[in-house]
Amino acid sequence: MDPRVLAAMQPFFAERFGNAGSVHGLGQDARAAVDEARAAVAALMGAQPEEIVFTSGATEANNAAIIGTVYASRRPDAHLITAATEHHAVLEPARWLAGRGAALTVLPVDGCGRVDPDAVRRAIRPETVLISIMHGNNEIGTLSLAAEIGAIAREHGVRFHTDATQSVGAVPVDVGDLHADLLSFSAHKRYGPKGVGALYVRSGVGIEPILHGGSQERGRRGGTENVASIVGLGVAARLAEETMAEESARIAALRDRLAAGMAAMEGAHLNGHLQERLPGILSVSFAGADSESLLLALDLEGIAASSGSACASGSIEPSHVIAALGLPDRLVAGTLRFSLGRPTTAGEIERVLEVLPRLLDRVRRAWAGAYGFRR
Ligand SMILES: *Cc1c(COP(=O)(O)O)cnc(C)c1O
Repeated sequence: MDPRVLAAMQPFFAERFGNAGSVHGLGQDARAAVDEARAAVAALMGAQPEEIVFTSGATEANNAAIIGTVYASRRPDAHLITAATEHHAVLEPARWLAGRGAALTVLPVDGCGRVDPDAVRRAIRPETVLISIMHGNNEIGTLSLAAEIGAIAREHGVRFHTDATQSVGAVPVDVGDLHADLLSFSAHKRYGPKGVGALYVRSGVGIEPILHGGSQERGRRGGTENVASIVGLGVAARLAEETMAEESARIAALRDRLAAGMAAMEGAHLNGHLQERLPGILSVSFAGADSESLLLALDLEGIAASSGSACASGSIEPSHVIAALGLPDRLVAGTLRFSLGRPTTAGEIERVLEVLPRLLDRVRRAWAGAYGFRR
């Protein structure tokens, strides 16, 4: 978390602990702080403050958008369109609805991880109530053709939701340009606290709430406002707006240096779209290696990376995103994701490039020995 975010949140845990729903001065102080945060979040994405609903994060925002749209449609035969590389926080609520009578189309992606807008157009049926296609992918960094897909949805009178958790604050995001009716994001991906996020709901778009209770958030999400976290989200949004252009250019340059260094390593393959992508994510597959061993070896060197894959009962389950790209198996198993951000330095990038070849060599030799694989 950015220290400026933490500092802004701190008073709201004690001295300024008013309930934003109370009439007294302390309550009104909290209300004013929530309103200020709402305005900052709205400004970051070209929305109106009343179109922002605070949630517990992007998972809740995605669930509220998807389940809320299908329930509001009152169609027992509602049809949804999404893509194979979406976050589980989109795929799982969509599958949950599909298990309860909804129809679901999960579109494939190309080798860069992009959904073809024409495939979206062809998938639309009279019963289609929602198209949900993410803006920036969290594992490979590819930016989708969300604006084109949003325009197609609008043209067909179908709601368009985009999970913009990775792109808000990293690249320009404007709800008008994207033709978004619903847009989700989360504070902790942009140097804010965990457990808070927001859903943009275009004015006039009705969704059925998934949390029923008090009339907070204009009746769209019951429950006492998480004032301190909302304040943190607001400051994170304001900082993102102020620093995005300069910061994203700096991070993209570091990412390019990392990518160039890795591309020069034997058996390396860069994943995702090489131009249209988020600045801070780099996914690389290393032939003949396995990501779990690489991650452990990197961790011992003090380098935190991720694989996006889960290890289940000894067999490495490839990430659904990497699997959807259609890479050969010898590459899929050795996929690593590196995330760069506000605190990342050039020295750290050089250090990764310096230690990785040695680790790769060791892991490949062990992997070849254990499984008899040849490079
Ligand atoms: C992290 C992430 C989520 C989930 O966000 P939470 O705030 O952890 O619920 C959803 N979608 C994408 C693309 C993400 O990167």
